[in-house]
Amino acid sequence: MVGRRQKNRHHRPSPIFQHLGDEAIFRKYALDMQEEAISWRGYRVGGSGVGITGDGRYVSLSGYNTKAKKGPRRRGDLCAEMRIIEDAKKKGCTTILEMWVAQPPQPDDFTGLNLGVAISCGHCRMRYKNRELPDKRSPLKRETVINFVDSTNPERSRPFSVEKILRICS
Ligand SMILES: [Zn+2]
Repeated sequence: MVGRRQKNRHHRPSPIFQHLGDEAIFRKYALDMQEEAISWRGYRVGGSGVGITGDGRYVSLSGYNTKAKKGPRRRGDLCAEMRIIEDAKKKGCTTILEMWVAQPPQPDDFTGLNLGVAISCGHCRMRYKNRELPDKRSPLKRETVINFVDSTNPERSRPFSVEKILRICS
């Protein structure tokens, strides 16, 4: 965790972390956000995050998934990660430092890869690659760290940079 943080050139010791004490707060926040989620199959995903605004303020971010019906995605079907990115843009963030995404473990939807925790789905990854990273104004960066938390056993979490997610599962 610390090693990955040091590699994140955007990461600075955050007043939010100092104020709230610990990243456990953000993990808890992500777990709590599962309450907002809507899923036809009961697959609830909650998310939280920390972003920096253009004028140097740290803000907390949140998101949750919605997938009301089985079948292809419809308008309004969004992942927690997508809502966190939207929240960051709405709040004027230039960079998302870190996210926490809490969900039950499952193998990757597109590749079948089992990483012990569920990571961003194929739809999110396409969005990172094709829409967010090519846009210099997007707060999602290659260095943004996403901590995937096993909601069935919240002590278990694995951090991945966006770059690493795209490298192992593109
Ligand atoms: Zn997704």
